[in-house]
Amino acid sequence: MSIIGACLSCVLLSSKDQLVPNVPDPKTPMPAAKDWKDPGYLKVIWIQSPNFDARAKGSVVDTIVLHSTAIGSLEKTTEVFQRTKTNPVSSHFTVGRDGSIVQNVSTFDRAWHAGAGHDSKGRTGPNHYSIGIEIVNMDDGHDPYTEAEIQAVCGLIAEMKRRFPIKQIVSHEYIAQPPGSKMDPASFPWNRLAYFGLPMYFGQNKS
Ligand SMILES: [Zn+2]
Repeated sequence: MSIIGACLSCVLLSSKDQLVPNVPDPKTPMPAAKDWKDPGYLKVIWIQSPNFDARAKGSVVDTIVLHSTAIGSLEKTTEVFQRTKTNPVSSHFTVGRDGSIVQNVSTFDRAWHAGAGHDSKGRTGPNHYSIGIEIVNMDDGHDPYTEAEIQAVCGLIAEMKRRFPIKQIVSHEYIAQPPGSKMDPASFPWNRLAYFGLPMYFGQNKS
């Protein structure tokens, strides 16, 4: 099976996420990792994760949650998102070190990336109202985020702003409860996102 990466805007601006021919139906078997390659800088490939469900009725997607994978590669992270047995997790998007993007879950569905937590307003269940973006990084505070990763994250946020009434960007560390249970994305250069003009919450939320 060969899967060809599509351009960022083509995939993300398709009205139901399913108009792009190479987007698999969530019920079809997923390709093995050996059957796909990084699509390349600012290109998107869709490798559906089985780990998702519906957002709560009436949920408004208004939050971006940034993560780092603590896994060294896009391929390995994508593989982890295929696991359904122990600790099933997913994200809407994963950004590789070369700026490649894998979409794992439709933005209209709830990905399982943030777990228990609440935002600065005390709203719980962040997966219902957020888009999760994972960035490949060891999350040790030293591993640098590549320029390609930062550009891809910016591109995704810009596209999400067009699709949803995004009003804040938060770190997993900030939104996770109890405080200190997560620290990702450690040492992310948040100043690079300032031009979006959105409130950003990162570091530990002790409220
Ligand atoms: Zn995280």
